[in-house]
Amino acid sequence: MVRKWQFLESKNQVCCNGRCVTGHNIGIFVFALFLIIVISGLFFGFDCPYLTKRLSPAIPIFAAILFLMVICCIVRTAFTDPGILPRATADEILHLEKSDNTQNVTLSGRIMEIQMHTGQKIQLKYCQTCKIFRPPRVSHCSLCDACIANFDHHCPWVGNCVGLRNYRYFYLFLFSLSILCVYIFVFNIINIVLRTQDKTTVADAIRDTPATIVEALVCFVSIWSVIGLWGYHTYLICRSITTNEDIKDTWNSSHYGENLKNPFSRGNPVLNCFSTLCGPLPPSFLNLRVIIQQDNNIPMTTTGMNNNLQETIRYHPDENGIYNNRVWDSSTENPPYSFQQKQQQRPHVLHRIKKIYMRAVIQRVLRASVRVDNDIISSIDRGLCVLIGIFNDDDQNDIDYIVRKLLSIRLWPSIDGNRNWNRNVVDLDYSLLCISQFTLHATLKGTKPDFHLSMSGEQSKILYEKVLNQLKQNYKTDKIFDGLFGAMMNVNIENDGPVTIILDSRSKKSNATADDE
Ligand SMILES: [Zn+2]
Ligand SMILES: [Zn+2]
Repeated sequence: MVRKWQFLESKNQVCCNGRCVTGHNIGIFVFALFLIIVISGLFFGFDCPYLTKRLSPAIPIFAAILFLMVICCIVRTAFTDPGILPRATADEILHLEKSDNTQNVTLSGRIMEIQMHTGQKIQLKYCQTCKIFRPPRVSHCSLCDACIANFDHHCPWVGNCVGLRNYRYFYLFLFSLSILCVYIFVFNIINIVLRTQDKTTVADAIRDTPATIVEALVCFVSIWSVIGLWGYHTYLICRSITTNEDIKDTWNSSHYGENLKNPFSRGNPVLNCFSTLCGPLPPSFLNLRVIIQQDNNIPMTTTGMNNNLQETIRYHPDENGIYNNRVWDSSTENPPYSFQQKQQQRPHVLHRIKKIYMRAVIQRVLRASVRVDNDIISSIDRGLCVLIGIFNDDDQNDIDYIVRKLLSIRLWPSIDGNRNWNRNVVDLDYSLLCISQFTLHATLKGTKPDFHLSMSGEQSKILYEKVLNQLKQNYKTDKIFDGLFGAMMNVNIENDGPVTIILDSRSKKSNATADDE
């Protein structure tokens, strides 16, 4: 019997035959669980017997209730599907391709404009990996490699994303852990004080119960971050926004130059808390336990699903252009927005972001150096200092182009000095200092730079290293120098001229004709 979870394409781990879903790396979660169990165990073993005798048996009972609550909440958060949206099926991708009038355009720059129930217009971004337009509040988690409904953040401590379907457990976990930390810490102190009264000195009391000091230290260290986080999430719940939205400042009106209020807020902190913590929970969008009939006559689509096993809940606009409202909010009866149907023929109002590709800013220098924390990690004398920015869509062609141009661009005069722009860095045996620079792809939202066009850290690091390796292969290993990827660097250059050239890898068509001459 084959169930649907066996075809899950994200990096999530599925266990219990599709009943539990968690992230792909749960090492830190296991450590957190271990720490909670050990500290609570020490408390039950070393403090509770004495406190029961001296004060009341209610102390361990209440601690046990808190402990069970913490464990239940963290396990529930870690193993609940946070609201993963299924990727598009082949049919749906085809439908989307057809709906676009112009051909030969990749979908990466697509944006769909929708109107919320409040009348606000919001742009939905297209997810390259999942091939869907992300409904409001949906974000793609790079660690899980999946789009998550009401994405809050990916929490390493629970080893899972926190989103629509497990946020309340996460919040309860923070709440109960805060109380447990304070509770254990307070009774550690009381224990020491009572024992001191019996033994006359603090040192004797501590020698009697050394575990108490360990517990008190661990609790004291963790109390601040746990309570801080709990307070922060209480604040977020009252405003009905997610951590992701708070960080990105999504509902800040200056982004769109119009009055943009959070359409998910009920305008009242109490109502917001109630709907976030007590509103009905939607079922998992994945239906991981659905049994798949394997029939060789029916072609499998990209998601590994038979075409006839369509979801009952859909995430793509139906004929009326309305999303299923369960994706983001199950407690409202009306969908929170409807599509603007500007053209009957073409319901998706598509805009394309102006595309920019791998960028290099080339500077002819007399000398250049890179400093990290006061240490000079690279320096060159005459040559090129190159800032490289990597865009979302860059591939091997862009690398080839940039490498070719860097080594052949003629920025120095001929030997006799009669002709400018005659010799390149290879002719002169000069050096190159390359520095990765994600800010090259910034766009402006008002006055605030936005870097969503830059490629994510790990991916761009791979491409950036390819550029370096290719430069070394095509030139000389000892002539290629490098900053420190992702670090704060101080770059010191002496621009010779000044000569500064900007290269965009996909403007190569116009350049190619120049090459042929
Ligand atoms: Zn996605
Ligand atoms: Zn995640």
